[in-house]
Amino acid sequence: MRYISTRGRTAPMAFSDVLLMGLAPDGGLMLPETYPTIEAATLEQWRVLSYPELAFAIMRLFVEDIPEADLRDIITRTYTPAVFGSEAITPVRTLSDGIKILELSNGPTLAFKDIAMQFLGNAFEYVLKQRGERITIIGATSGDTGSAAEYALRGKDNVEVFMLSPHGKMSDFQRAQMYSLTDANVHNIAIEGMFDDCQDIVKALQQDAAFKAKHNLSTVNSINWGRILAQIVYYFKGYFAATADNSERVSFCVPSGNFGNICAGHIAREMGLPIDRLMVATNENDVLHEFFSTGNYRPRRAAQTFVTSSPSMDISKASNFERFIYLLLQKNSEDVTRLWNDVASGQGFGLPDNLAEISERYGFISGKSTHTDRVMTIREVYQTDGELIDPHTADGVGVARRLRKPNETVICAETALPAKFAETIFEAVGDVSIPRPQASVGLEDLPQHVLVLANDANLVKAEIDKLTPSN
Ligand SMILES: *Cc1c(COP(=O)(O)O)cnc(C)c1O
Repeated sequence: MRYISTRGRTAPMAFSDVLLMGLAPDGGLMLPETYPTIEAATLEQWRVLSYPELAFAIMRLFVEDIPEADLRDIITRTYTPAVFGSEAITPVRTLSDGIKILELSNGPTLAFKDIAMQFLGNAFEYVLKQRGERITIIGATSGDTGSAAEYALRGKDNVEVFMLSPHGKMSDFQRAQMYSLTDANVHNIAIEGMFDDCQDIVKALQQDAAFKAKHNLSTVNSINWGRILAQIVYYFKGYFAATADNSERVSFCVPSGNFGNICAGHIAREMGLPIDRLMVATNENDVLHEFFSTGNYRPRRAAQTFVTSSPSMDISKASNFERFIYLLLQKNSEDVTRLWNDVASGQGFGLPDNLAEISERYGFISGKSTHTDRVMTIREVYQTDGELIDPHTADGVGVARRLRKPNETVICAETALPAKFAETIFEAVGDVSIPRPQASVGLEDLPQHVLVLANDANLVKAEIDKLTPSN
């Protein structure tokens, strides 16, 4: 299987090349030439597989340039009960109103990003070793992405990680999670500024071609194809756990920002998984909800992005959306390029009024959840089920309850655990004790390691020069 760019001006590549890439050289996103289709007999065989076996069965269809034994080894080392808390890796539970919860957040940083990132960490290490290369990962984070990346790359050979975070702007839990790491290849830098300042520094470093080449700089952001691929697996696993046989159809409801998680659901549906509807749940930053209800895609600027109580969805440009639009436009790269030029110029674009057809063909439907909605949903679930859900998951559950048809099986993605977002939990249900996995008990008491720097890209460069073992 070869990978091509949505913009059509990048020569086809193999999986391992795409794995280490961000944007394609032509500015597009990489994706497979075609999505494989799964026959009924294969789906039947897959129903009984363990998580790592299923992951291997799916990924081998997309990965042709890593020997099967090696791919299997990477996957088996990644998806273990020791890392994800259970054999099932992504178990499903059912709320008293019948809504099913797909538990994606039992990994080391208590958010769904671990599932893909842990795979990426092991896959990176493998590919770098094969090639005899080193890589320096630089990222900016306001919380979830940075910690998931650090926990995936800690202690890995030939990888150096520099993570910038806004000084004093993260929650106690998030700070403790990142800054308590003691691995020699993980470097936390707190910038005296905001998240956007951190991101600007990352951009400045990436645009310095000499510096970029010297350190083999790369990032692990949400457009990375390896992350999308790893996420496809749990849609299959969740489907099997929620149904008795393959004649049943289910719908998924996914709290969304960058369209990364649900993009994997969309691909699973294209592959033939019996998914009825894909419900996109947004918070107050509702660019995606606007698209699926009006056909207009109008990304907003950072200044127009609301700061909400489901902060990991405070995104106004859905960076993975281009993968879906490419398919929607029947793989016409010229059209995609034209539309994204309109996005870049700040206009956004509108599609002709065939929304009902799009919804019919691809199953997408959307809903929006505000602070009031999510607090109410957390409270209701606590009252009826005696359990806590995190604010992002609550956006999904609230939207699913609103959109659900009678007899529709809806599986909601649990994208984080409540322990990460205590403040909103307390607002919803008062002063309760929030359960935590054993591994993060007492996390805040550990010594923290972070270097605080002024908001200046040159200081960060000097630090990278100083701390990176020479190539
Ligand atoms: C990243 C994240 C999301 C949004 O996922 P996308 O793939 O960007 O749509 C939702 N919830 C949590 C907790 C996250 O960390």
